[in-house]
Amino acid sequence: TLKGRTALVTGSTSGIGLAYAKAFAAQGANLVINGFGDAGAIEQERLALEAASGGKAIYSAHDLTRADEIEAMMAQAAEAFGGVDILVNNAGTQHVAPVESFPVDKWNLIIALNLTSAFHTTRLAVPYMKEKKWGRIIQTASAHSLVASPFKSAYVTAKHGLAGFTKTIALELATFGVTANCISPGYVWTPLVENQIPDTMKARNMTREQVINDVLLAGQPTKQFVTAEQVAEIALFLCSDAASNITGTNISVDGGWTAG
Ligand code: NAD
Repeated sequence: TLKGRTALVTGSTSGIGLAYAKAFAAQGANLVINGFGDAGAIEQERLALEAASGGKAIYSAHDLTRADEIEAMMAQAAEAFGGVDILVNNAGTQHVAPVESFPVDKWNLIIALNLTSAFHTTRLAVPYMKEKKWGRIIQTASAHSLVASPFKSAYVTAKHGLAGFTKTIALELATFGVTANCISPGYVWTPLVENQIPDTMKARNMTREQVINDVLLAGQPTKQFVTAEQVAEIALFLCSDAASNITGTNISVDGGWTAG
């Protein structure tokens, strides 16, 4: 059970982040959810999480591309719960384009959101975790933290960086009861994947079906999309006592993609 623990999941109004939030709530954790979307739908989500956990769930609308906004989110969490026991850096975005025409603003956005935001949340969460002598830092990295695909230069760079960052903090925090690990999914069917299909069709001159079968699932030997719930189950395990000696690792859940 995670009763009495507080989990902050960035980018938890959708997709994989929402699945983590639900999994933590089912174990009784308090929650800080974050991300963009329809205010009414997010409030419904927040109430459902509280009903499931029997604890408290709060919503942070902060934009994680900005350090000052991340500071405000972490202050909001500290105000409500004293601090964060489980930090899940999950918010992320994608853009697909050849490197020579990769929009500079998209590069900056992806590095800020997919990589730098994890540095800011971590530096702000760690003092409390060290004091409590317990903490879990979990990154949604990606198969793209281990291998590359063409036309995803910013994303692959950010995710490789996130994997290196995670190993570094795992070493720094090893004697404090705080673990840091990456979970690296292959393709999970979420809005992030759905939204990149049109650009991939353009970049590769393919139909939608060709993109799904010949690009997305081509490298995934199981020929299945990973589910968000399967990713969340790994996070739950990482929060258990059984996982207290798992730190600095990068756990693949990619249908065999990176085995090849
Ligand atoms: P998603 O688009 O469904 O969710 C992204 C979340 O991030 C949303 O809640 C969104 O509101 C939030 N977000 C976007 N910009 C933000 C900002 N500036 N500040 C705060 N929140 C912001 O995507 P997803 O597929 O669930 O992706 C979640 C994570 O999983 C990402 O880091 C992604 O790179 C990673 N991932 C996804 C897949 C996949 O196949 N879907 C595979 C590997 C890794």
